[in-house]
Amino acid sequence: MKLKYFQKGFNFSQDGPGNRLVYHLQGCNLICPWCANPEGMPIEGVLMTSDKTDGSFCPNGAVESGMIDRKKCEGCNEICTSIPASGIKKSFVEEDVDSIVSYCKSCSMMFFDGGGVTLTGGEPTLQFTALKELLQKLKSASIHTALECNATHDRLPELFPLTDFLITDCKHYNCETHKKVCGAGNENIIKNISLAAKQRNQLLIRIPLINGFNASEEDAHEFAKLFREIGTDSCRYEFLRYHEFGKDKYKRCSMQYTMTQDAKVLPETVKDFERIFKENSLITIHT
Ligand code: SF4
Repeated sequence: MKLKYFQKGFNFSQDGPGNRLVYHLQGCNLICPWCANPEGMPIEGVLMTSDKTDGSFCPNGAVESGMIDRKKCEGCNEICTSIPASGIKKSFVEEDVDSIVSYCKSCSMMFFDGGGVTLTGGEPTLQFTALKELLQKLKSASIHTALECNATHDRLPELFPLTDFLITDCKHYNCETHKKVCGAGNENIIKNISLAAKQRNQLLIRIPLINGFNASEEDAHEFAKLFREIGTDSCRYEFLRYHEFGKDKYKRCSMQYTMTQDAKVLPETVKDFERIFKENSLITIHT
């Protein structure tokens, strides 16, 4: 079975404990406008331009000012991606699960140093069957596994026994607001977080703080109320400030970036959230 991923590389301690080999799997079912990885959103992938893109290779005249006109592009068999000089590439590569496992094993001796492999996205559960196979094979090889996901998938609990360290997002406590901005309600997210909190020890819940969406003092109290009700004593919480690291990639993916500077929160906002969580006996961390 094959997996599509749009990025792989090492980081230390940000996506699970220790030194980690991180695979970003292609495709996401949500449409959060602040996403820093727009190239990872469509499951079918996206064509990406670069500073060196040369539109003259396109027989349909679909490339103009470094962007691709999707309507003109439709139906082409991607002639550009077969010509390196075009400066256009597909967002993902496809690789057999067994080949990924072999690579992870080869890294495990030299580089992990108490870490392991993290599978993130995009949303990794969109490739559920291949993801499950990969987690099973990594566990069989005694490699520490971490999964970072948006917790929307119905079958997520099947992956709990295969995952040593689980990281889930929770972007909003209110189902309607979540649906309006992110494209799906939060019912499954709350259900999966509740189950995970009861069934497992290591769970990190990340909340991206976006001004005008979920970053007011009232929002902090509502989040804290939700997690108190769920009873997530063994969980840790982390607040992530909105940033624009992915902004340039939107142009390279010929997508529109709709966020504005107003979405940024101050460091004090994070401190306020941490204080309110502490008052509710919820433990926060920074990775
Ligand atoms: S896939 Fe590439 S070559 Fe084909 S129309 Fe689109 S930009 Fe042009």
